[in-house]
Order: sequence, then C-alpha cells, then structure tokens
Amino acid sequence: MAKRGMLIVLSGPSGVGKGTVRKALFEDPQVDFNYSISMTTRTPRSGEQNGVDYYFVSKQAFEEHIKNGEMLEYAKYVDNYYGTPLKYVNQQLDAGHDVFLEIEVNGALQVRANCPDGVYIFLTPPDIKELRSRLLHRGTDDLTVINKRIQTASKEIRMMQNYDYAVVNDKISNAVAEIKNIVKSERLKVNRV
Ligand code: 5GP
Repeated sequence: MAKRGMLIVLSGPSGVGKGTVRKALFEDPQVDFNYSISMTTRTPRSGEQNGVDYYFVSKQAFEEHIKNGEMLEYAKYVDNYYGTPLKYVNQQLDAGHDVFLEIEVNGALQVRANCPDGVYIFLTPPDIKELRSRLLHRGTDDLTVINKRIQTASKEIRMMQNYDYAVVNDKISNAVAEIKNIVKSERLKVNRV
C-alpha cells in the first residue's frame, strides 16, 4: 500500500495574497503536489473557469454537499460559501499524493482539528503598517472600512500560533521558495508515516 500523502494547508489573513502565491507556486512544473480545487457559491470573475479556479455552484447545491458530509471544511466569507470537497483530498492522500489547500483561516482551523498531521503554513503581510498602506493604495475603501479590515487582520495575525510555519509575503518568489522548502523538509522528517 502506498504511503499516505501529506496535507499542506496555506492560509492567512484576507488581502495577504494567498491566491497569488498559490498560482505562482503551481506555475512551477517541478511542483509535485496536487492542488485541491475549492467549491464556492460566489460568481466567477472574468477569466475564471469552472473546474479550474473553483467549482462554482449554487447556494442550494453547496448546502446539499454540507448536509451529505461531502466537505472536508467550509466557511462563509463575504456572504458566500467556500469549501474543500472531501472526496478528492481523500483519494489523493490514499494514493500517496500530497495535497495542497489554499483556504481562509476558519476553514484551516477546521482542517487542523481533523487532520493534525497536516502541515499548516500561515502567510503574513510584512507588517500591519504595510497592510494598511496596501489597503489605502487600493483606493476603493473609506477609512472606517480600512480600520475595520486592519482590526480583522490583527486578529487573524494572532491566529498565527495555530500554524506550524509563518511565511512572510514580502515578495511572491520568496514566499513560493519558502513553501517549497517547507514541503521538502517535511518530507524528510523521519517520523512521517
Ligand atoms: P476569492 O473569492 O478571492 O477567490 O477567495 C476569498 C477567500 O476564500 C480567500 O481568502 C481564499 O483563500 C478563501 N478560500 C478559497 N477556497 C476556500 C476553501 O475551499 N475553503 C475556505 N475555507 N476558504 C477558501
């Protein structure tokens, strides 16, 4: 029987660039772990494809999957459901393949509770000040919204203690390299069953 694969979870505060880092990571043809495509009820953005970026489903369909116990985790984020279909993850892990999730923090906590032997990576902004300036330069939000987001982000950064590793997203290529290094050394651990 194949050695069970390793579950790798990338999470972090909203706006930190998880999606961008994940995309850059999977552009590397040498990356040999599999991305678990999430399911969501949000509408596709331009250029996004069903079954590639997400499985785009209705709220009713998503709730049906939850009811049937088909989600490894799920969370509501900005009025939409996001979640990880359980079947693909289990199939891949059982076949000995490592699986990579890119999810928000509530979902990551749920996964951690069920899969304590996974590898949990927290992506952080270089510092809160920079996050503030990033949000300001986006130019779309007023100060009340910005301050609220910063409060939320500070709370999420405190959540870092629930993770095994913290990767600073100062530069995408650095973050990608660090994630690859983490996976590499986790694979070398003698006690990985
Ligand atoms: P976006 O709408 O920008 O694609 O994603 C919004 C947020 O949902 C991001 O923080 C992203 O990491 C998170 N997300 C994407 N897929 C999942 C998932 O399957 N589960 C959870 N809990 N969060 C997800």
